[in-house]
Amino acid sequence: LSDKLQRAFKNITGKGKISEDNIQEALKEIRVALLEADVNFKVVKKFVNEVKAEALGTEVTDGLNPGQQLVKVVHEKLIEILGGRSPEIKFKGKPPYVIMMVGLQGSGKTTSSGKLARLLGEEEFNPYLVPCDVYRPAAKEQLITVAGQVEMPVFDSREIEKPLEIVRRAMKEARNIGRDVVIVDTAGRLHIDMALMDELKELKEYLEPDEILFVADAMTGQDAVTSAKAFHDALDITGVILTKMDGDARGGAALSIKKVTERPLKFIGTGEKLDAFERFHPDRMASRILGMGDVLSLIETVQKKVDQDEAQRLQEKMLKNQFTLDDFSKSLNQISKMGDLGSLMGLIPGMGKMKQQIDAQAESKQMKKMQAIISSMTMEERNNHAILNQSRKSRIAKGSGTSVNEINTMLNQFMQMRKMMSMMSKPGKLGKLTQMFS
Ligand code: GDP
Ligand code: MG
Repeated sequence: LSDKLQRAFKNITGKGKISEDNIQEALKEIRVALLEADVNFKVVKKFVNEVKAEALGTEVTDGLNPGQQLVKVVHEKLIEILGGRSPEIKFKGKPPYVIMMVGLQGSGKTTSSGKLARLLGEEEFNPYLVPCDVYRPAAKEQLITVAGQVEMPVFDSREIEKPLEIVRRAMKEARNIGRDVVIVDTAGRLHIDMALMDELKELKEYLEPDEILFVADAMTGQDAVTSAKAFHDALDITGVILTKMDGDARGGAALSIKKVTERPLKFIGTGEKLDAFERFHPDRMASRILGMGDVLSLIETVQKKVDQDEAQRLQEKMLKNQFTLDDFSKSLNQISKMGDLGSLMGLIPGMGKMKQQIDAQAESKQMKKMQAIISSMTMEERNNHAILNQSRKSRIAKGSGTSVNEINTMLNQFMQMRKMMSMMSKPGKLGKLTQMFS
């Protein structure tokens, strides 16, 4: 009852849900944060409006205020746009695989070539570096020096003038000495230039690269977006490396480049040293773009607390074998609020199999049906499913718009889950159980 009162109170004060009024201030702050991060103002406007429309009416988590809740939604949305999980380099067909590095002069291609070779070399690969910038004086020497620093073999192209000739001979050499990833460092220009694009297209045609990585300097902000588009139009890039993220760039370019090219950001450069290179993590980038470190860490703490409290409560009930239909309904509720149904269903004992059989949409429909069935039960029935006889079941079926068959299916699922839980909570298994819910 106290739960209900609390909720009612929240609704009256308007604190319980996100509304136009209670997020004005937060909206303004979010806009400013994004603009300061160098996100294009049109992108900001569109993005903020979308998020706002989506967030209106959603419930506010205990421990957060509506503004903070909105920041949470924005943060999640940013992660989603930036690309969810951090992406891998994709190799297709047979080695030697080819990665072409492209981008404007000074963006960090040569440095990143060396960094990438080093990183891949630490994994199961045998990289080979190929200097193909025939214009800038000493550009080839630069990569040869970098190769020495990361202790990776490099093709000596100093005596060869034509880029196409370089890659022909380099590919042959790579095969001869058994290298499986060829990283081609190409020439850049200060500005987009058709002659350069033609040269790169020609190289692409010959090499049929597995990856064409566009290297962008995060410090150049909006300019990086323009050149990203030009390179993508000409070459159909496969991914992006964002360099100089060690500076004070907040990374708004990452968001805009992603929007323009629809290609994943794969790596970031974080310094001049050759080990200052990481796989791209959308969550970290989203936090950086948004700034607001304090709010984000508060949200994280609150989220953990909510999850822990609930997991703790469920765990205690399971240990005592007291898990009821009412708890079942509450945990379904919790799950549907958390969003990612697919992966969460898998966490619940007995639901894993169900997950394989039905898609996410069907899942949420199924969960709604279960909720409807349980909500048509009396409290007594919810706390003791054993009393559910035929006549009670027909009454519940009528009340919830389902059939007795569906009720039996749901009960089977529930009992199967209970059985597995009590099995798992036998002495010695507690550790495992805790892991599952933490
Ligand atoms: P390229 O013309 O595209 O080949 O660019 P370079 O690899 O020669 O890099 C240009 C400059 O940027 C060099 O001085 C690099 O040391 C520097 N640089 C490259 N990546 C990073 C980075 O992630 N952080 C910092 N601070 N400097 C970088
Ligand atoms: Mg270079």
